[in-house]
Amino acid sequence: MTSIRPMVAGNWKMNGTTAALREPRLLAGMLRDVKLKCDVMICPPATLIRRAKSVMKGSKIKLGGQDCHAAVSGAHTGDISADMLKDAGATSVIVGHSERRTNHKETDAQVAAKAQAAHKAGLTAIICIGETLDERKGGKTLEVLTGQIKGSIPAGSTASNTVVAYEPVWAIGTGLTPTTKEVEEAHAHIRAELAKVMGEEGAGTRILYGGSVKPSNAAELMGVANVNGALVGGASLKAVDFIGIIKAYL
Ligand code: PEP
Repeated sequence: MTSIRPMVAGNWKMNGTTAALREPRLLAGMLRDVKLKCDVMICPPATLIRRAKSVMKGSKIKLGGQDCHAAVSGAHTGDISADMLKDAGATSVIVGHSERRTNHKETDAQVAAKAQAAHKAGLTAIICIGETLDERKGGKTLEVLTGQIKGSIPAGSTASNTVVAYEPVWAIGTGLTPTTKEVEEAHAHIRAELAKVMGEEGAGTRILYGGSVKPSNAAELMGVANVNGALVGGASLKAVDFIGIIKAYL
């Protein structure tokens, strides 16, 4: 059986100015003498990546972006390329988050193009997938996940350049979570579908669970088969909450 090093990644979304860097500084201090059994990452707004890198100098915490454009450069006002994120100090980038899919009408094909741009820049793409509440109620969850996997994971994806985050849309920021049985079923399905699109690489690819993960439910969720870590929104903003989730792996 393949051994997969888990990852706990924090998505700050559109939160944080310079003052918020107090939190990763605190987190870096808390983790200084800890032998980590997982990768820890913070994805702050792009404006903070370079400064976050400097306040966490010498720490094991990695940095990621929250989105990138599919092009390397060009006339795309307000957008940011994967190369720019890499240049700022990121090692990964989230693509296809449900808030991007909903607010910016991003399609699977666009998500795949962004993931491919991330790979070309030498970044790991954290590709988000997940069903809406209506899709779950309509018994379509697994079908939706299959479609998103086929459409959003580009050719050339490997276990080292790709992480998949299963984030049921209805669980994001709501305090609701699927049952462990539902998480197990979704992750087993994702694992099987990854084998179809990634071949052998699918077995070693990390599948994160995301959606209202907090210190009180992290150990239970992280203990589910094929859950290789967490993508955390709200609870990643405060070091004390985030470490409570990371503790699932200490
Ligand atoms: C997210 O935005 O990816 C997320 C999982 O948010 P939350 O943890 O707040 O539900």
